[in-house]
Amino acid sequence: MIKVRCPICDHWMESASTAEWPEYPFCSARCRTIDLGRWLGEQYRVVPEGEGQPPREHADDSDVP
Ligand SMILES: [Zn+2]
Repeated sequence: MIKVRCPICDHWMESASTAEWPEYPFCSARCRTIDLGRWLGEQYRVVPEGEGQPPREHADDSDVP
């Protein structure tokens, strides 16, 4: 038996194993969706403006034959 607290709604949950717990570590699909939304919100804030430039990763290695 494991006991985990949902990071979204702070509910304590008990289950025999995480294998039978599709929404682990969240208590429900709803809380998992909320967490996903928070992640996406963070990413939108982190991405700097003017990110539309093409990648130059390979341009620096173009001298190698
Ligand atoms: Zn929850």
